[in-house]
Amino acid sequence: MMINSIPIGILAGAGQFVAFNIIVVAVLGLCIGSLLNVVIYRVPRGVSIAVGRSHCLGCCRELAWYDLIPLLSYLLLRGRCRSCREPISWCYPLVELLTAALFVIVYLHTGLTAVLIKYLFLVALLVAVSFIDLEHFLIPDSLVLAGVIFGIGIGFIVQDISFWSALLGAVSCSGFLLLVALISRGGMGMGDVKLALVTGLFLGWPQGLVGLFAGACAGGLIGIILLMTGIRGRKDPIPFGPFIALGTLAALLWGSQILNLLFGPLG
Ligand SMILES: [Zn+2]
Repeated sequence: MMINSIPIGILAGAGQFVAFNIIVVAVLGLCIGSLLNVVIYRVPRGVSIAVGRSHCLGCCRELAWYDLIPLLSYLLLRGRCRSCREPISWCYPLVELLTAALFVIVYLHTGLTAVLIKYLFLVALLVAVSFIDLEHFLIPDSLVLAGVIFGIGIGFIVQDISFWSALLGAVSCSGFLLLVALISRGGMGMGDVKLALVTGLFLGWPQGLVGLFAGACAGGLIGIILLMTGIRGRKDPIPFGPFIALGTLAALLWGSQILNLLFGPLG
């Protein structure tokens, strides 16, 4: 059907539908981002994410529900605690905004399908892992395990990649980084190797490896810039988790285009 033969009313209706979905997905992203802030703060400190209310890090006052509205509370409080006026880290609204933006990008990529749930989970996991790795230089096993369990479970429901593709992706990605970890003798942590397994499990073969290569390129480039500008010394650790996350996202959005570019159209 030619596009100009569709009545304008239907097109306008479809546009409104997408716009409404974008708002819903963005609000969901803000709320999940708020939850991720709890995960990012508590998991590396060994605190349960299920028990205990959030409190101010300055005066320890428990936060009321109206202090916990994603983004809005931070703006209304102008970034300070209601009681002690201690500044609240800008990381909190950043995580919420970033999660919302990534959720919308993934929705525009997959559309309103079951696949959307799979990749929203992946994006949320990657945001949490990246911020924890940047601050603590570690990738918690519990988050990787959550990714593996969810990845296997959703594989039975959403079949955008085959079982063998997921298995081969997981083995090749973690195997590749394990090799790098052994050769670099500690330059790459085991946390990165485990996170690569999640990338492979979700993206499959060969998209997972594309993601890792993209992440390694980005990491190498940023590493060289940090060394040359003297921000980081030769002995300083540079967390690789955020780069795995970046590469995974790039492969999720443009994996087949990158493959076409490298090897020409396949099949
Ligand atoms: Zn306070």
